[in-house]
Amino acid sequence: MTIPVNLPDIRSRARAAFLGFAIGDALGAPVEFMTTGEIKAKHGVLKEIVGGGWLRLKPGEVTDDTQMSLCVARAIDAANGWSLEGVAREFAQWLKSKPVDVGDTCRRGIRNFMLKGVLETPFNQWDAGNGAAMRMLPVALFTLGDDDLLQRYAVEQAHITHNHPLSDAACITLGRMVHLSLMGFSKTRLRREADQLITAHPSFAFDTYRGLATGYVVDTMQTVFHYFFRGRDFEECLVGTVNQGGDADTTGAICGMIAGAFYGMEGIPRRWIKRMDRRVVDEVTALADKLIGLSACNRGMGLFPEGNK
Ligand code: MN
Ligand code: MN
Repeated sequence: MTIPVNLPDIRSRARAAFLGFAIGDALGAPVEFMTTGEIKAKHGVLKEIVGGGWLRLKPGEVTDDTQMSLCVARAIDAANGWSLEGVAREFAQWLKSKPVDVGDTCRRGIRNFMLKGVLETPFNQWDAGNGAAMRMLPVALFTLGDDDLLQRYAVEQAHITHNHPLSDAACITLGRMVHLSLMGFSKTRLRREADQLITAHPSFAFDTYRGLATGYVVDTMQTVFHYFFRGRDFEECLVGTVNQGGDADTTGAICGMIAGAFYGMEGIPRRWIKRMDRRVVDEVTALADKLIGLSACNRGMGLFPEGNK
């Protein structure tokens, strides 16, 4: 059994996914590294894009999460397809531009590429940070309609900086959740994807949420799952996530990506879009269109196997 693809709907959801990602970054960054108590004391419940934080951001400014995702997206667009070296070159150019924040593991991987041309960092037990998972969206958009390609490119892009089975598994699961959301599947179906990850790696279980939102990819995924599956709309998912503090810009961005794809453009509060850096809004929108245009789904496959809607 197959279901027909509704391309205009997919395109709109893809834009919402990238925009939702950037919004989650901008909303969460002002409270990055804060505890829930500190956030409560300063903001009550943080519901607006206020800027500030340890990076002293302007309201609507984004950080490394969105910037690295833009690097991946630009590389695919420039190559009109997959170019791992193109992705690494974009990262290198970005690092040279002296960005306000760069994760340590990301910096190490990019420097190894710059100095030695290395595209794959060896396995390292400390590489289970969320730095590779946080830049999965462009790969998910570009591989829509082809799960084999998703798995391959997800891991390739990850290994430029992070080589760890938990990070790899998180990258693939996020990609699949984006695919399902773009095609309009239910939260019940998305939950099965999370459950599959938990079966393979039980540490991702989030049924009794521990309230940890650090940069460790397990904590990050638990936080995103907890608030995405409980939230009743885009705003609720994101507000819950970022008010958990910790790596709030990254958890916010990842949750915003899935919630954006799931709830679509209509679900994103206008007041948040208005607050965003206009150039970022324009670029993520244009790149979302281009990536969907390059995807297997758009190359005339036309049909998807039916899952449980
Ligand atoms: Mn960041
Ligand atoms: Mn972060």
